[in-house]
Amino acid sequence: YVGLDEQEAFDIEYWLLEEAKLQRMPKPKSLAGRVAFITGGAGGIGKASAVRMLHEGACVVLADIDREALDTAVVELSAVYGPDVVRGTHCDVTSEAAVADAMAATSLAFGGLDILVSNAGIASSAALDETSLELWNRNISILATGYFLVSREGFKLMKAQHTGGAMVFVASKNGLVASPNASAYCTAKAAELQLARGVALEGAPLGIRCNVVNPDAVLRGSKIWTGKWREERAAAYQMEEDDLEGHYRERSLLKRDVLPEDIAEAVYFLASDLSAKSTGNIINVDAGHAPSFTR
Ligand code: NAD
Repeated sequence: YVGLDEQEAFDIEYWLLEEAKLQRMPKPKSLAGRVAFITGGAGGIGKASAVRMLHEGACVVLADIDREALDTAVVELSAVYGPDVVRGTHCDVTSEAAVADAMAATSLAFGGLDILVSNAGIASSAALDETSLELWNRNISILATGYFLVSREGFKLMKAQHTGGAMVFVASKNGLVASPNASAYCTAKAAELQLARGVALEGAPLGIRCNVVNPDAVLRGSKIWTGKWREERAAAYQMEEDDLEGHYRERSLLKRDVLPEDIAEAVYFLASDLSAKSTGNIINVDAGHAPSFTR
């Protein structure tokens, strides 16, 4: 410690030792004792969000329509975090009864509900003049109605508990901007944003917060990008499927891929007390993309 006298050097040593001691101490987990219900939790963004919250000590229920993926996810996550903190429940978010049952079972199994992540979704769309009523209804029923049913049941439980809660909707940048050949999907995603504002407004007096994460082009690790959607997007942008990753990366301001884990970090922030003073808000996780009418 050049230039310091003996006492000053001693003081610095003291604080260095103190810091080393603090670093060795166990850190309290920020979601310890909290119960989280995640729709579409069997894969992609939902599963990454489950991992993030399990890491913070939450008990997590994965709700998904895909039984096989659900079983795999429960086995994997139980192996890492222990069997007592992970459950899977087969649930179609378009079914009023299934959603109510799944939530009630969650509350029974873990003694309450503190965090609700509404995330289950599909990506399927077409040019406007080729959008059948069936395709339109499918988008509205899984995305808009599904988010409504899940948030309504969660709201009822949280209200009855009198302990507040945090809801996070995984919506989409497509709820804010239009995308070619995706009117049904974009409309349903816009409905989710408006629903979130309604939940935030009505939930505030009860301590129930509701915020949104808008992902954009999470190509790796998300199942919806492996099927028809990928084909449709490539066609919409008149490019080869293999060029999509590069297209989205180059279009972003940061020139980086967005991964499920990136979305999960924002979901965790909004689910935890780190965002205790935020409700009715949106976080776009898109590697930077100037809002515009179309993209
Ligand atoms: P994903 O396909 O990997 O995961 C979606 C999950 O939802 C799947 O496990 C699927 O089985 C489940 N699911 C579908 N329909 C269901 C239903 N009716 N009931 C219950 N579960 C159902 O996709 P992802 O990329 O992780 O998408 C998660 C959310 O993020 C979706 O709402 C999607 O619209 C949104 N999103 C994704 C992207 C992206 O680029 N991946 C971009 C913007 C928004």
